[in-house]
Amino acid sequence: MKYYNLKDNTEQVSFSQAVKQGLGRNQGLFFPEYIPTLDNIDALLEMGLVERSVEVLAPFVEGDLTKEALYQVVESAFNFPAKVNQVSDKVSSLELYHGPTLAFKDFGARFMAQCLSRFTDGEKITILTATSGDTGAAVAHAFHGLDNIEVVILYPKGKISLLQEKMFTTLGGNIRTIAIEGSFDDCQAMVKQAFDDKELAKAIGLNSANSINISRLLAQICYYFEALAQLKAQGETRNVVLSVPSGNFGNLTAAMLAKALGLPISRFVAATNANDTVPRYLKTGQWSPNKTVATISNAMDVSNPNNWPRIEFMLEQQIIDRATLSSKTIDEEQTQSAVIALNQMGYLSEPHGAVAYKAMVNELADDEIGLFLGTAHPAKFKEVVESILGRPLALPKELADCAGEQILSIDMAPDFDQLRAFLLA
Ligand SMILES: *Cc1c(COP(=O)(O)O)cnc(C)c1O
Repeated sequence: MKYYNLKDNTEQVSFSQAVKQGLGRNQGLFFPEYIPTLDNIDALLEMGLVERSVEVLAPFVEGDLTKEALYQVVESAFNFPAKVNQVSDKVSSLELYHGPTLAFKDFGARFMAQCLSRFTDGEKITILTATSGDTGAAVAHAFHGLDNIEVVILYPKGKISLLQEKMFTTLGGNIRTIAIEGSFDDCQAMVKQAFDDKELAKAIGLNSANSINISRLLAQICYYFEALAQLKAQGETRNVVLSVPSGNFGNLTAAMLAKALGLPISRFVAATNANDTVPRYLKTGQWSPNKTVATISNAMDVSNPNNWPRIEFMLEQQIIDRATLSSKTIDEEQTQSAVIALNQMGYLSEPHGAVAYKAMVNELADDEIGLFLGTAHPAKFKEVVESILGRPLALPKELADCAGEQILSIDMAPDFDQLRAFLLA
């Protein structure tokens, strides 16, 4: 399969090239040249996660990975479950946080690391990525200890939770971390600038592991199939409404690709916190990002979502019907009351999942069931969840292990020249 640059469709690359390059010319995103149709959806939904994911992904990686190689990639990347958990008669959650860093980003980062290590032959690679929280941990863990791959992670200083920070800044080895004195958008802008600097990019073999990398999105398609397989196994026949807590909109992009492949998702709710560029855009047609504001669902504190052009493209091309997408912004108070409401129903959640729950729960028709994504383990947001619920949470082992470790980050101003010097040093 070929991938073309959404900003310049004369640039067409193979899957391996798209994975290695991350972004195309003029910061354009890569998109598959066509969306295959899977006409055996029912049979696919009977399969297990690994076997099914190989079938779903095979056309996307054709030419670069044999089915055997793809099987190995998928098997080592997806070595933990995605779980549908029923919350009420009308609502279930899709828990994507049972991987090593307790967030859905483990799926994409681990798949990408496995692909990339197969696509390089000894040349040095530097993964430069910006994180609003969970990408950092997922990428750091997925690449930690891989030969010839250096990882540099930028994050907004003081704007992510301490435990989130500890999960990726304490590893050392080939993982270096920089606390930027600015917002996530500043971090993201610095990363983009580095990619535009051809001389730098060449010198250090620059690559990004952000959700702009198509391999991450492909991996994420697989858990939507898994979710519908589990719902089907439970005998669920109502229309599935998927509510996605969104920041950079990678997760929603993957969900739309899943639907385009034939997965029967009935409609989407794009849920955001106060960083509401997309809900305002869908209402008014004006794309006007405000300054990023800090919220308790901080992994979604993004005002200029980098995956939006892919969604825009799918809507324009009518790959996805515009009528199947609605969007809603949820404020801090609603988020907190949703965490409390879920808790009263016997379900422990955290702010990101709660935003997604809240955005759809009151708008379900009789023949619909709502599925919201649990994108992170509640303990990853221990301080906020404890203060909302007024009771202590136990730390899972993954977090307890790093809680006592020392943060190894350096501080840096949001200044590209400083970053450049650091990368070339
Ligand atoms: C990254 C992240 C999100 C946002 O996902 P996008 O794909 O960037 O829209 C939501 N919740 C959590 C916990 C995250 O880490």
